[in-house]
Amino acid sequence: MTASEEKFTRQHLLEVETLTPSLFTLRTTRDPGFRFRAGQFARLGVRKASGSIVWRAYSMVSAPHDEFLDFFSIVVPGGEFTSELSRLRPGDELLVDRQAFGYLTLDRFPDGRDLWLLATGTGVAPFVSILQDFEAWERFERIVLVYSAREARELAYQTLIGTLPERDYLQDLRARLTYLPVVTREQVPGMLYGRITTLLPSGELERAADLKLTPEHSRVMLCGNPAMIEETRHLLKAMDMNLSLTRRPGQVAVENYW
Ligand SMILES: Cc1cc2nc3c(=O)[nH]c(=O)nc-3n(C[C@H](O)[C@H](O)[C@H](O)COP(=O)(O)OP(=O)(O)OC[C@H]3O[C@@H](n4cnc5c(N)ncnc54)[C@H](O)[C@@H]3O)c2cc1C
Repeated sequence: MTASEEKFTRQHLLEVETLTPSLFTLRTTRDPGFRFRAGQFARLGVRKASGSIVWRAYSMVSAPHDEFLDFFSIVVPGGEFTSELSRLRPGDELLVDRQAFGYLTLDRFPDGRDLWLLATGTGVAPFVSILQDFEAWERFERIVLVYSAREARELAYQTLIGTLPERDYLQDLRARLTYLPVVTREQVPGMLYGRITTLLPSGELERAADLKLTPEHSRVMLCGNPAMIEETRHLLKAMDMNLSLTRRPGQVAVENYW
């Protein structure tokens, strides 16, 4: 089989940054033919010492217009994929499937005024991509990013998120971004304290964003821990906000990471 017939391309790591012992970010080269929508994921492959390849889904953090690919990864103790991935250094090979997948994309919502992005842990990845793309800023008046981790040091891409509104290409667009970092295991000034599933029903998220969640105006994306997603979906359902399906557009779109 020739390289162009293979289902994947061979890319190389450009940068690796350790955030904590169990979290790191990586940047790789990008095949010019690899296309994706902000919010989608790729299948990444690493070769084990035995020669076999392990594949896992990873959301792109970088924007569809970037020349490189950024990813944000957990290290699962003993995890088959992340044990290998976390050993890679700049120059090492990473396999990337030729096709991007996933429906955590803005075309899930034909309408809406305010975009709420609710993430736990590495689940912030697709939202950082969405926030670096034009579309969300063109389509929505308000964007609220709620990003939850156990401790403040686990929150990635803080400078990137903080300086997004200053980017030239986003400045004249209409959306206003509200960033609400949330920590669950320590109290930090300027950050909300508690779980998303507590801060939502207590009204604290809406108060902090100074914005109401309503079926008419709000479109909500959830990404990360399946337990958070399941519980938040029920809370939103009780507020008349439902999963957006092709045959029946709604207010909510989700991506479970495991
Ligand atoms: C659509 C999709 C997109 C994904 N995007 C990302 C991403 O951008 N970054 C990322 O780190 N992972 C992401 N994942 C998870 C990823 O595919 C792997 O599960 C992860 O790399 C661990 O692989 P592993 O073989 O080491 O452990 P696995 O055997 O795959 O997982 C073992 C256990 O680790 C826990 N776990 C797995 N992933 C995570 C996680 N991200 N955060 C906390 N606990 C976890 C779960 O309890 C899981 O059962 C995504 C998963 C899906 C389905």
